[in-house]
Amino acid sequence: MAIESHVLTVVDVIEETADAHSIVFDVPDELRETFAYTAGQFLTVAVPSDQTGLAARCYSLSSAPHSGRHQITVKRTVDGYASNWICDNLRAGDTLRMLPPSGIFTPKSLDVDLLLFGGGSGITPVISIARTALEKGSRKVVLFYANRDEQSVIFRSELAALSSAHPDRFVVVHWLESVQGLPSTEQLTAFAAYFTDYTAFVCGPAPYMKAVTDSLKALGFPRDRRHQEKFVSLGGNPFGDVEEMSAAAATLAEADDHDDSDDEAPSAVTGPITVEVELDGEHYSFDDWQGDKPLLEFLEEKGVDAPFSCRAGQCSACACLVLEGEVTMKHNEILEAEDLSEGIRLVCQSMPASEKLRITYNG
Ligand SMILES: Cc1cc2nc3c(=O)[nH]c(=O)nc-3n(C[C@H](O)[C@H](O)[C@H](O)COP(=O)(O)OP(=O)(O)OC[C@H]3O[C@@H](n4cnc5c(N)ncnc54)[C@H](O)[C@@H]3O)c2cc1C
Repeated sequence: MAIESHVLTVVDVIEETADAHSIVFDVPDELRETFAYTAGQFLTVAVPSDQTGLAARCYSLSSAPHSGRHQITVKRTVDGYASNWICDNLRAGDTLRMLPPSGIFTPKSLDVDLLLFGGGSGITPVISIARTALEKGSRKVVLFYANRDEQSVIFRSELAALSSAHPDRFVVVHWLESVQGLPSTEQLTAFAAYFTDYTAFVCGPAPYMKAVTDSLKALGFPRDRRHQEKFVSLGGNPFGDVEEMSAAAATLAEADDHDDSDDEAPSAVTGPITVEVELDGEHYSFDDWQGDKPLLEFLEEKGVDAPFSCRAGQCSACACLVLEGEVTMKHNEILEAEDLSEGIRLVCQSMPASEKLRITYNG
């Protein structure tokens, strides 16, 4: 089963830097509710492809929800397919198919001090959070923003404007690799040490994210004040209605499934399994999950409007907290060991490992 996709029209394309474009979409009134979003969430777009029908890619919204705008910002990936297609082809008046906003890289409260780390295109969800917190929240926002050089700084003037508008609440520290080299864990730790009671959000290239996360851990930031978003390309097709993915893409997705040594062993528990779910204030209870399909598919069959995006264990849109019982995940590219130890699981990949399961999406 696939979530309903929608075709939106591009109303503007902004060349932010030589290799990053912002794309603004028109959301008609009848889709406003469907496309309502929270700062830090992403859209999943279907980039047309001669080879596979489409390439599904996630792009964070760089606009702030209160602006009424739906803007993504795409940076070219060297030898990448979708990012270059978007930057080369999309113009005002064009259309693109996409799934509604999704994702959990979002502040639970805007009335806490925020410590934001952005690296390169990782600024995209981070600036949405900053814009929103400054407009709708009341506390301080500190942004550490790392880039290769001055020319690659996306949103330079917007950040300067936000800084002037909120001089007592917003501080931006630009770090340029061309001037200072890559920020080391020690340097990041020395910086973050001033903000140990803030809530951190981290998004950028993998080595940068690791250095930031290591420093936050070293400073004792608890897990619930340390959030990260990984930018990876989806291997699967959450749109679901393309008749044939190419053999190449299908093989790739399959190879992904087998290559990840962290994947858990398949479940030995068979049904019927009792499942209790808490979602958006509703409680659901079933006693006939046979364990023959992932939990997400079972819940969808039961008419539960469970969240998801990639359906491939590559984003965290379907993450839940297991309160009782256990599942095994067929594939996981996104949750860290700490997430797992806290009981967080990806519902799209979950198979039963106990005869009773109780989960919540409100964790
Ligand atoms: C939650 C989330 C948010 C994100 N937000 C952003 C963001 O705000 N900004 C941003 O820039 N990036 C973002 N990303 C990353 C983005 O989704 C892509 O991973 C990135 O743009 C690179 O995609 P690419 O196709 O250009 O590169 P690659 O994925 O590296 O392209 C190579 C892949 O494309 C396939 N391919 C090659 N040719 C074709 C073809 N003709 N047809 C089909 N497939 C082909 C290849 O098999 C290979 O798998 C985000 C990712 C996630 C998960």
